Amino acid sequence: MALQPELETQIPHVLPSIRHNPSTVLPLHFAIVGCGLGGLAAAFCLGRAGHTVSVFESASCLQEVGAGIQISPNVSRLLIRWGLGDELRRASVKPDSITFRRYNTGHRVGWTKWGENMDRDYGSPYCHVHRADLLNMLFKLASPYMTLYLNSRVVSVDADHAQLTLASGRTFLADVIIGADGVKSKTREVVIGRRDMPIPTGDAAYRAIIPASEMLKDPELKPLVDHPEMTGWIGPGRHIMAYLIRDRQEYNIVMLHPDRGTRRGEAYDIPGSVQQMRDDFAGWEPRVQKLLKLVSHTLIWPLLDRDPLDTWVHPSGKVALMGDACHPMLPYRAQGCAMAIEDAAVLGILFSHVTSRRQIGPLLRAYQALRYPRTTDTQLAARLNQKIFHLPDGPEQQERDISMREGMEDALR
Ligand code: FAD
Repeated sequence: MALQPELETQIPHVLPSIRHNPSTVLPLHFAIVGCGLGGLAAAFCLGRAGHTVSVFESASCLQEVGAGIQISPNVSRLLIRWGLGDELRRASVKPDSITFRRYNTGHRVGWTKWGENMDRDYGSPYCHVHRADLLNMLFKLASPYMTLYLNSRVVSVDADHAQLTLASGRTFLADVIIGADGVKSKTREVVIGRRDMPIPTGDAAYRAIIPASEMLKDPELKPLVDHPEMTGWIGPGRHIMAYLIRDRQEYNIVMLHPDRGTRRGEAYDIPGSVQQMRDDFAGWEPRVQKLLKLVSHTLIWPLLDRDPLDTWVHPSGKVALMGDACHPMLPYRAQGCAMAIEDAAVLGILFSHVTSRRQIGPLLRAYQALRYPRTTDTQLAARLNQKIFHLPDGPEQQERDISMREGMEDALR
């Protein structure tokens, strides 16, 4: 997608005027709304750049949903650069390959070697971690640089004065406000000047974790633990992605299926019915049936999406959005958190050069200009994967499987 001309002009204007000289960086006060994975990464990057960072989180404690997350090389590279290499290695499992299987027979339709090939081709590993472990890593990294306000829901933002108000009535003034408040972002409404509702995607995700020790007892499931791979079972209107986490002790399963009107409240994740989950995947191959029998409880997560925005920066030039607040996406490319962490890195780099308050607005617009094409492409590609993965059985599905199989044969040759 082409950059808007107005944004394109921001980059040459801003970048030549910033010279990196840590002694001349003007320390600013950043207020970050939301302490999810994106907000934490931004707190670290902006704090390390020399700024004061206050983070406001509505929850009373920091916690992540009990599920795994894929860390692709674009993110592991950043985490390693930030000093988290050892922890990441300890906490993650590196899959040897990705395999796509037909939902009802389990036949392999696609296979790609990962493992060391990822390090060789992208200079950094592809790995799988528990979300809570990633949250802990980022929290440790960010905590020396931030003041965290828990139980602090932001209810309004005065963008012209960079002032936010909490539900308690307390107000805070900053130089810059970053909205990292997720797919239901309040800050987004302020930036775009209206309330826009997330688009229901028609899909929901069950998430569950199985103890790998249970899988080792079954000769048909044991290979999934002995040879860590990411397995995708793809079928009409549904698919499953599954992989090992936590030193191969736990097996994470995400089951994407048509949403039947899951109650949408404040929470993103709601306890789901295990029986309904099993019924939703009845008729899938025997290993899937066995895996789902091992699930004792599940969460259900209605998947929300939004169209790419025209702007992530308020006209005042003092408030900007990042992560799911501006570019939420279907998890069908496993890049939502990755994009939020990249946003944080770019904000940190740009604001490690700021020498005057007059540069704040242009730097925020440069941030959008640098990030927008990549995040928009990723949002749209995730939507396309929804169609590709969920094709009904028939000629298009056969064509998809043939091209996957050809790719597999090339790779195995
Ligand atoms: P969030 O994680 O939503 O954080 C927002 C924070 O803001 C929350 O803590 C919230 O409590 C807080 N908040 C909200 N409103 C307010 C307010 N008014 N005041 C104060 N605080 C507020 N991404 C990947 O990269 N890899 C994957 O493998 C992957 N798998 C996924 C699987 C599923 C099933 C789903 C649903 C998503 C997946 N994602 C994945 C996407 C990823 O989880 C999100 O993109 C990412 O967590 C977004 O981070 P964020 O910090 O922008 O927002």
